[in-house]
Amino acid sequence: MTQRRPRIGVMGGTFDPVHHGHLVAASEAAAQFDLDEVIFVPTGQPSFKQHQDVSPAEHRYLMTVIATASNPRFTVSRVDVDRAGTTYTVDTLRDLLASRPGSDLFFISGADAIEQILRWKDADHLFTMAQFVAVTRPGHVLSVAGLPPDRVSVLEVPALAISSTDIRARVRAGHPVWYLVPDGVVQYIAKHGLYRGPDDE
Ligand code: ATP
Ligand code: MG
Repeated sequence: MTQRRPRIGVMGGTFDPVHHGHLVAASEAAAQFDLDEVIFVPTGQPSFKQHQDVSPAEHRYLMTVIATASNPRFTVSRVDVDRAGTTYTVDTLRDLLASRPGSDLFFISGADAIEQILRWKDADHLFTMAQFVAVTRPGHVLSVAGLPPDRVSVLEVPALAISSTDIRARVRAGHPVWYLVPDGVVQYIAKHGLYRGPDDE
């Protein structure tokens, strides 16, 4: 009897902070593509001053762990946090494939991020490493023109008009973020005083 190859979703992001839009996208992709696991992969720390406003990787990693802890299919990987330098998706996928040989990877990406894909490093190679799942996102037109149709699937997910940028702005303005992010993430943000500095976006 041939064994089914593990089907693994990969949800890359800055997750500054992780919010319910990310979680719904991952959950819907898991259900629709019959995924055994979805690995959330927070990006590494961007180098130097051009991205000064990104919170330390360790905070973003821990908030992602808190947000995903209750879902038995969700895990968090440190591959990008622990790799020095800029995060490139091609490196993420290579490292994850090495740790899970024989798996089929499904890279989950929102409408805004999938648009960039052709500009990503080693774009052609990416499509040999993973199937891409392009998910709808309020405020963004989902276009997969120019991407290989057999390697990119479009998935409509419940519309949550939430962005990390907006959450950071709300915290800075003293507005509530309850119900936009998991409760534990609200508490983590408060405990560590995140997004209060003048340099935050
Ligand atoms: P920021 O505003 O800081 O860019 P963000 O909300 O876009 O944050 P990211 O960490 O940049 O979050 O996104 C990670 C991935 O999740 C991307 O592929 C993005 O398109 C997708 N995504 C983010 N928010 C949503 C949402 N509300 N619905 C669907 N997909 C989303
Ligand atoms: Mg974004």
